[in-house]
Amino acid sequence: MTTTAHALPLWIAGEPHEGTTVIERENPARPGEVVGAVAAGDARLTTIAIDAAHAAFPAWAARPVAERVRRVRDAIAQASADNPARSRLLARELGKVAPDALGELGFAAAFADFAAPVAERISADVVVEDAEGRLVIVKEPFGVIAAITPWNAPVILAALKVVPALMTGNTMVLKPSPLAPLAVTDFLSAVAAELPAGVLNVVNGGADVGETLVSDPRVAKITFTGGLPTAQAIAASAARRVTPTVMELGGNDAAIFLRDAEYTEAMYTRAVFGAFLTSGQVCMAIKRIFVPRERHDEFVAGFRAAAESVLRVGDPLEPGVTMGPVVSRDHQERLRGLIESAEAAGGIRYELGRWDVEPDAADGYWVRPTLVTGLTDEHPLVADEQFGPVVPVLVYDDEDEVVRRANAVDQSLASSVWSTDPAHAEAIARRLDVGFTFLNCANRAGTSLRAPFGGRGLSGHGREFGELGVGEYLQTHSINYPAAVRTGEAAGNAYPVPAS
Ligand code: NAD
Repeated sequence: MTTTAHALPLWIAGEPHEGTTVIERENPARPGEVVGAVAAGDARLTTIAIDAAHAAFPAWAARPVAERVRRVRDAIAQASADNPARSRLLARELGKVAPDALGELGFAAAFADFAAPVAERISADVVVEDAEGRLVIVKEPFGVIAAITPWNAPVILAALKVVPALMTGNTMVLKPSPLAPLAVTDFLSAVAAELPAGVLNVVNGGADVGETLVSDPRVAKITFTGGLPTAQAIAASAARRVTPTVMELGGNDAAIFLRDAEYTEAMYTRAVFGAFLTSGQVCMAIKRIFVPRERHDEFVAGFRAAAESVLRVGDPLEPGVTMGPVVSRDHQERLRGLIESAEAAGGIRYELGRWDVEPDAADGYWVRPTLVTGLTDEHPLVADEQFGPVVPVLVYDDEDEVVRRANAVDQSLASSVWSTDPAHAEAIARRLDVGFTFLNCANRAGTSLRAPFGGRGLSGHGREFGELGVGEYLQTHSINYPAAVRTGEAAGNAYPVPAS
């Protein structure tokens, strides 16, 4: 590997900061090529960043919400001016195709526009004055928020935390993933530079930086997006001070094609993108496909034809390419291992799409987009989140059965139901034990800024997007002044009753 002279600095207390080491990021489409580097911190620098966020909190929280909202929105709009160049960086460090990378960067401004009026509205006191007396519910920020993000959508997943947390008066230290730190660090540093010193701090690094961050007693809330083992380590650390958490973890999203689904080219095309966007490395991507037994052959043929037409695998910067490599050699090896084990277990493999590159070449972390049929629900490709471009197709006979099997996994994030009858689709959706169900679509195409997103069980808790996602960063303080305070014996014995 060649070395780079320039590493993007940490951003602490309103200034660029040198790190103790450097993280170089390779291009997964051409691993010999270094895309760039970021400075990485250690426990000492992480603590300095928390000092800065802690010191900045009282003054930032004291500013009127309208001013905070305006400043965050303006800072993001200003930082977004460099998005075209930054999107090339994102495409090269992550393997995400260029239009997708540009869209990802644009999401931050769109989400800030959505969150601005919401943050203003829900930050206001709720005041009730009636026969029972006067109740004031005060909405307050928590303080210092520790944010830890993954690599697969580094800017979107950071924006979902930074925007609402700062608008509602918190300050933040954010640690990006070492697997895609470049574009997000460049973007957030530009945002932070427009805000008062210490309001937003960015410290790159690995698990050691993350552990220091979440175990600091001054951290008032932790917001994490990533995998289950990391969430468990963070939760154990948070337990010491019962620090509240938002946990956005993995999913094993079922796509249930009902007998009355469309089975048209348009449907198959939506399903292909639902499964293979960003090489399947999306928490809300289709991870398991369920089709009625008698539709199996038709489905596989229709899906393969749509993939042939819309899935072109190659260098993410090439125009017309719709799928790039996976993020790392480790991930490539894990996914290829899953495909081999699926074949060994009797699965039938269908390779999909068209190729600009030689997928088996040693250079580049390519994984052929693949459908696998004939597996049992116990095979790891079905039972666990694969997080890559390899998707099992499973057959079912009746709806009770498919609902039971869709629900019989540990990770319950999202799902999709496909039907021409909206009432039928909704009835099935209501029986799924998940936090989000897409109807007749899946993945990014079906999301909405206003729709709360998040998981259940081992997919986590708390929400992002929507008013609930903004509200995660406010806590309440009730100030209650009863009109008639219960006196005498009743002071000790009387229970509240509803106001008449
Ligand atoms: P990961 O858990 O390996 O890493 C996530 C972050 O945690 C990284 O910044 C990493 O450096 C940090 N980290 C690692 N060990 C730590 C520790 N001990 N203490 C504190 N921080 C630590 O996850 P990943 O591989 O980057 O991301 C992929 C996972 O994220 C998938 O399971 C995916 O489904 C999930 N995800 C979920 C959502 C959602 O909204 N629910 C969105 C995107 C991705």
